[in-house]
Amino acid sequence: MASSRLVDVQHLSKSYGDHVALEDVSLHVDEGETLALLGPNGAGKSTTIEILEGYRVRSGGHVRVLGEDPQRAGVAWRAGLGIVLQSSGEASVATVREELRALAALFPDAREVDEVIDAVGLSGHAGRRIASLSGGQQRRVEVAMGIVGRPRLLFLDEPTTGFDAEARRDFWTLIRSLQDEGTTILLTTHYLEEAARLADRIVVVADRRVAAEGTPTSIGGPEARLPIVRWREAGAVREERTHAPGVLVAALIARLGEPEDLEVVRPSLEDVYLDIVRADRAEAAA
Ligand code: ADP
Ligand code: MG
Repeated sequence: MASSRLVDVQHLSKSYGDHVALEDVSLHVDEGETLALLGPNGAGKSTTIEILEGYRVRSGGHVRVLGEDPQRAGVAWRAGLGIVLQSSGEASVATVREELRALAALFPDAREVDEVIDAVGLSGHAGRRIASLSGGQQRRVEVAMGIVGRPRLLFLDEPTTGFDAEARRDFWTLIRSLQDEGTTILLTTHYLEEAARLADRIVVVADRRVAAEGTPTSIGGPEARLPIVRWREAGAVREERTHAPGVLVAALIARLGEPEDLEVVRPSLEDVYLDIVRADRAEAAA
């Protein structure tokens, strides 16, 4: 195993009683990388992340995080992790600054609390009780709590759910600055644009297994990225995927004159992702 492999998961399985949540998941995250773990609700993303954080016990397989088995690792190991869970408990009655100060004191090389508050866009709210903040603001506090210890490895489980468009942009800026500092990140999100912008690599889990893996621009293979030509003909929308959209458009113009509602689009990561998940579902049903 390369020393720069901060997360190494091989053949991970997890059952809750009779229910198999993960069957055979292998993935890795190297130092400095951002990996996005994508998949439909219930695919096992949070289960995977919480096993890596040491919060859940696996049923089988090999797991190493920062070189240790999360089920046995201790306090020093945990100090290297930043954790933002998908759902957190009740909001604290402490203020934003109090809560972050208390947490920062537990880490050997914590960030400056006011800088963190500023980075998550809460500088006007540092003295407010967390419980009195809006849902999106409380989520920002949780992100702040995840990064205040200057973690080497940061886990973010749906960090931006409930964010408005501006808060999401601010969050992307924050993540880029963490990436520039060398932070290694494992992220889940339902926002495909977020994954496309932030991730170096993507792993799609579906039906308890890894359905696809690759970079945001290569995952799904070249066929998944064939341009789509759309036009309207005799009242109906038609579409065709083709290697040569120019040739198709020229042929349409020769045949129809100026075709109505003509457009040529490249599939987005969201289109590709949906193809992967649907193909996987069809395969599982067959
Ligand atoms: P995701 O984060 O991808 O939405 P989860 O990891 O939360 O998926 O859940 C994966 C599967 O495991 C789901 O079918 C879910 O219902 C089940 N599951 C998750 N946590 C528990 C639990 N504590 N007990 C029983 N089943 C669980
Ligand atoms: Mg989840």
